[in-house]
Amino acid sequence: MFEPLPDKPDHPALELEILDRWEREGTFRKLREQNEGGPKWSFVDGPVTANRMSLGVHTAWGRTLKDVFQRYKAMRGFDQRYQNGFDCQGLWIEVGVERSLGLNSKREIEEFGLEEFARRCREVVVNSSEALTRGSIRLGQWMDWGNDYFTFSDTNIEYIWKFLKIVHARGWLYLGHRSTEWCPRCGTSLSQHELTQAGVFQEKTDPSLFVRYPLVDQPGESLVVWTTTPWTLPANVAAAVNPSAEYGLRENGEWVLVARYPDERFQRKAPGSELVGLRYRGAFDDLAPGGSVEHRVIPWDDVSLEEGTGIVHIAPGCGPEDFDLSREHGLPVLAPVDEAGRFYDDYGWLHGLSTTEAADQIVGRLGETGFLVGSGTYEHRYPHCWRCDTPLIWRISDDWFISVEEARPKLLEENARVRWVPEYMGKRMDDWLRNMGDWNISRRRYYGLPLPFYPCSCGHLNVVGSKAELEERATEGFDQLEELRRPWVDRVPIRCEACGEPVTRIPEVGDVWLDAGIVPFATLGWESPEWIPQGYATGAARGLTKADLPDHAYWETWFPADWVSEMREQIRLWFYSQFFMSVALVGRSPYERVLAYEKMLDEQGREMHASWGNTIPAEDAFAQMGADVMRWQYCAQPPDRNLLFGYGPAHEIKRRFLRFWNSVKFLVDSANAEGFKPGYGATPSPEHPLDRWLVARTGQLVAEATEAYEDTLTYRVVDAFEAYVEDLSTWYIRRSRRRFYSLDEKAFTTFWWSVVQSLRVMAPLTPFIADHLWRNLVPDDGPESVHLAGWPGAGALDEAALAEVAEVRRVTELGHQARGDAGLALRQPLRQMFVRGAPLAREHADEIADELNVKEVLFDQGPVARVQLKPNLPLLGPRLGAKLRDVAAALAAGDYEELGEGRVRAAGEELGPDEVIRGERLSVEGFAMAADDVVSVALSTELDDELRLEKRVRDLIRRVNQMRKDQGLEITDRIRLTVPGDDDDLVSAHGEWIKQETLAVELRVDGGALQIERA
Ligand SMILES: [Zn+2]
Ligand SMILES: [Zn+2]
Repeated sequence: MFEPLPDKPDHPALELEILDRWEREGTFRKLREQNEGGPKWSFVDGPVTANRMSLGVHTAWGRTLKDVFQRYKAMRGFDQRYQNGFDCQGLWIEVGVERSLGLNSKREIEEFGLEEFARRCREVVVNSSEALTRGSIRLGQWMDWGNDYFTFSDTNIEYIWKFLKIVHARGWLYLGHRSTEWCPRCGTSLSQHELTQAGVFQEKTDPSLFVRYPLVDQPGESLVVWTTTPWTLPANVAAAVNPSAEYGLRENGEWVLVARYPDERFQRKAPGSELVGLRYRGAFDDLAPGGSVEHRVIPWDDVSLEEGTGIVHIAPGCGPEDFDLSREHGLPVLAPVDEAGRFYDDYGWLHGLSTTEAADQIVGRLGETGFLVGSGTYEHRYPHCWRCDTPLIWRISDDWFISVEEARPKLLEENARVRWVPEYMGKRMDDWLRNMGDWNISRRRYYGLPLPFYPCSCGHLNVVGSKAELEERATEGFDQLEELRRPWVDRVPIRCEACGEPVTRIPEVGDVWLDAGIVPFATLGWESPEWIPQGYATGAARGLTKADLPDHAYWETWFPADWVSEMREQIRLWFYSQFFMSVALVGRSPYERVLAYEKMLDEQGREMHASWGNTIPAEDAFAQMGADVMRWQYCAQPPDRNLLFGYGPAHEIKRRFLRFWNSVKFLVDSANAEGFKPGYGATPSPEHPLDRWLVARTGQLVAEATEAYEDTLTYRVVDAFEAYVEDLSTWYIRRSRRRFYSLDEKAFTTFWWSVVQSLRVMAPLTPFIADHLWRNLVPDDGPESVHLAGWPGAGALDEAALAEVAEVRRVTELGHQARGDAGLALRQPLRQMFVRGAPLAREHADEIADELNVKEVLFDQGPVARVQLKPNLPLLGPRLGAKLRDVAAALAAGDYEELGEGRVRAAGEELGPDEVIRGERLSVEGFAMAADDVVSVALSTELDDELRLEKRVRDLIRRVNQMRKDQGLEITDRIRLTVPGDDDDLVSAHGEWIKQETLAVELRVDGGALQIERA
């Protein structure tokens, strides 16, 4: 006896019950034991940032995909690692803590105290990692919880130190002096790849200023420049013109680009090259820095001719191209603002103002001094800090870089060997690798990897490669070192290896992508001489995890990863950082295959933002959709398109689940009613054609799903499953329904076996409902969980059975279509049907007759459904000439042959799809017809008394069955049926039929109304 199923599944409730059973029965542990010693499949988890206090639906997407493929591979017997990772350092964590403490600047952090600040940051990670773990478990993700890696462990940091030391030994490490994107609030530079993150470029409205610079050598004349960053004007040192473009002197004495002022009358025109070298007065020469500068015009081929005045204001301290030009032309570099983006003291009345605060004052002053030509506003896409949303500025800064030039060819070569899904993601990586600049690895912050750089005044750069080396070279302070972290590590000076003097560490911390990039080495024990139990639980990670530090042999076993998966954004982030570090350390890619996927939006296709009220907390989704429905939504999504996630799609998915659920419920109810009890080893019987087909169809599902999982394309698993459920419910069950009204062991066994196989196929995607149904359907002699049942084999595919039924279904679909077009209800029996072009369906004539309610199905005779075709004269006329008339006549008479793909043969001529114009379908009197390119059906529509009588019988049966439903009878309940006197003729002609179809054990004719009563 199976557990009866309710009308629809309560996803959240059954999921909680299954979670409880997994926990009680140790299902995941059993699975790992079962696969121990099996072939290896290596997955390395990209760390999730531990700064949120609940799992987001975005994160749940990626976690679902990871879980799906680990589960699939586990069912195939692969031995795997299940180590989850948390990203624990950097601005993500710091900015959150700053906000919670109400701190607004680096000065305030330092006043608050770095030790306490570090403790608060760790606290965030502790709480967040617990919350994320809870959410992930609720999602159904099977990981080795409790043995997670945390990137703020000393072990992880030491591995990065080791990497940096190696990179330094190669000469790739350098201190760069350059113009860089800078967040004034965070007080640090950002790297090129950080600007590629979502949300960095936002619409911003800025002042738009036209400023006049009087020429010193040509009194009465001036240059006009355009800028959207007023704060950079006090740092102006030059104006650039395109030497080969034409400039003009306006009536009012202003020089501009002629092309930008098409309606202007010019006093004089000259190429830009003639302006080069002219000196001009700066607008802020009254301030000390500007006053010492000789402003002049320089040539620049990249001056934009599309915007502004064609004359560009150059401030080398405030822009990367400006900075490059300063090198080229020997221009002075004025750096007007400090790390917090505020003007330095020598900027007089501007001192202490932020770049935005200064804008109004600068505009006002320009107006007073007569430098302002005009002002307005300008909207553009402008970069913002990815972490705190502050508009970025450009600043000159000394940052540590890793040169990528030497590695670039090898990076490109290695990337070409990686299998990227979808393919274009690999192309994006290739583009990035070709064009990326050197890696800016230093951040002027606190809670991050301490860069182990100790530059000495003797000129030597000391780079420490491990904690042991630090201890050995420390001159003091090693004892107070709680963690390899600021502020403790800053109190450990070392001895310079060149001159022996004590040197201190630079204050900078590292880019967080170093933290995540080292993971394939730090967690797998690369070059680790021995296996250290809990060796990963060091520094800040102590007490949070029990993760071991494996030995080098382990690394050899599990590196490189067979597969990694993250969203597209990670191409320039985690996919890149681990790739670079791996190519640098061992000369090869750290992964063989990648699945990358696009963005998640809300169901209307908008970005999800808390302030827009369209975000969905995972808790709400778990409670309202259920994890399986979420997982289905994620998995149904082709990775090359944005996922529109929401309750609307979830509702639709629940409807689809219901279809499968109803099929299983029919199995359960019928089996219980008839007493069917399978053993786990029961195998289906191939005798009945429908059974033979369902077995083949199930094999096909397994084959399609296997291929889709192997290609890491979950949406194809979903498609295959949906098509299968459609076939199962609308063909197999519908055609076989009557066989389940008695204990037909063969039918039951086949049906049961097929459903059980389909549960195995879906187990990785929807692990809860699959296991819930498995535990109901599979007897005690089978595996207790579907997840322990292994992957089903597809068997030898019975292609003939599949092709036959596919053709039968094509015929019946066309038959239904013809009936529908002719307005003939299916309950009205018809005398004859003619089928052409479907030879395989011939064997199934009885089924087709039954399905379409016709008495007789005849093949390859009778009328053919044809489309009215006309010649496309402009094309055919020139080609066929006089022959056109015969072709046109044949087409008009319907005397043509379809050749597939729209091609047609008529009057001996083959015509292409463009050469014929398709019109209405030709009708033949007395027939309902339909056709596709190959198959044609024609149903005779003539009715006689017998057919009309049968229609009435069917109407009656339908009414009775509706009454059964209305009265809440089970599908297997027997009834006593009373039929009104008017329908006496139906009972006498078709009494048995009526009884059979309504499960009536007694049939009476009475003068009154139609009545049923449970027997
Ligand atoms: Zn910031
Ligand atoms: Zn030295």
